[in-house]
Amino acid sequence: ARQIVLASRPSGSPTSKNFRLEDRELPEVQEGEVALRVLYLSLDPYMRGRMSDAKSYAAPVAIDGVMEGETVCEVTRSRHQDFKPGEIVRARTGWCTDAVLNGESIQHVDTHGAPVTTAIGVLGMPGFTAYSGMKVIGQPKKGETVVVAAASGPVGSLVGQIAKLAGARAVGIAGGQEKCAYVRDELGFDAVVDHRSKGFASDLANACPDGIDVYFENVGGPVWDAVLPLMNLYGRVPVCGLIANYNGASSSDHDKLPATMSAVLRRSLLMRGFINTEFVKEHYTAFRQEIGPLVASGKIKYREDIVDGLENAPDAFIGMLSGKNFGKLLVRVSSG
Ligand code: NDP
Repeated sequence: ARQIVLASRPSGSPTSKNFRLEDRELPEVQEGEVALRVLYLSLDPYMRGRMSDAKSYAAPVAIDGVMEGETVCEVTRSRHQDFKPGEIVRARTGWCTDAVLNGESIQHVDTHGAPVTTAIGVLGMPGFTAYSGMKVIGQPKKGETVVVAAASGPVGSLVGQIAKLAGARAVGIAGGQEKCAYVRDELGFDAVVDHRSKGFASDLANACPDGIDVYFENVGGPVWDAVLPLMNLYGRVPVCGLIANYNGASSSDHDKLPATMSAVLRRSLLMRGFINTEFVKEHYTAFRQEIGPLVASGKIKYREDIVDGLENAPDAFIGMLSGKNFGKLLVRVSSG
């Protein structure tokens, strides 16, 4: 079996030197355990946080430890009563080709007939993040304007489509013409703005003539500067991610706190950060029941960006942090 470990902690943008590909011996399958062959590995922005030892909501990956991550796997051997060889499961194996895990830590995959990859994408953690952040914090209403960045990715694409289902106006922010065209023409957002274009702030204002009622925060950075003056009275800001900062904020970043706090006060804004896991108990079942059939029927659209081979995971991951992925980033580790 092979695995990718954290060789060193990055400062700034990670490089391939921060990772190391290794062989490993698999342990025997003990009572209660299953052996898994990894089919797909999900690459997600939060993994940048796990590479750093700064204090966070989760413990960092240790140096020489296997990079963490969620996967879709095939059971190859089982000594757990709930699993049989050949079954497809979701597991937290990390970045590796094969693993032996306790059966209690894995779940059968049920995607309502959609491809198994959706279990770690639109019907998995990123989809649930969009759903729960909108349900609990965003609460879009008919006629309101909802704005989201990283709009072609797994979180942002579902945020906008949920806004549309609620009768709101969805405005996406994405990097480059190709992603913008996809967000508008395929995902059906009402408008889309390119955050890389020179006139970004005024383009965003033009795309939101009635202001912004819900800003689903995925990125931070200069996008927040453009959004803040447009926020309406009683606007809601689910703070989901700040990817612009993950590699370390740039030194030219000015102090946004006075403007932000003043807007929060004068316009009675609600800003609420969240980690999707806090909503699992209360909202996961409803998410699967509501969104599962809509994905299977094609009413909710999603896009995947699949890279072949575990050895290519580091470069794909590094690229995602600067927008090189186009859709939910996955690594096809084995074709089963
Ligand atoms: P994506 O697949 O959308 O990938 C990240 C995208 O972010 C890039 O493709 C790029 O898109 C955009 N981006 C990167 N840097 C910048 C920047 N400086 N300014 C603007 N956009 C940028 O990611 P996900 O959908 O998986 O995740 C989206 C966000 O949600 C992330 O911040 C992530 O950390 C967060 N998240 C939070 C969770 C939680 O529980 N709170 C759970 C899951 C995700 P483009 O080219 O369009 O700019």
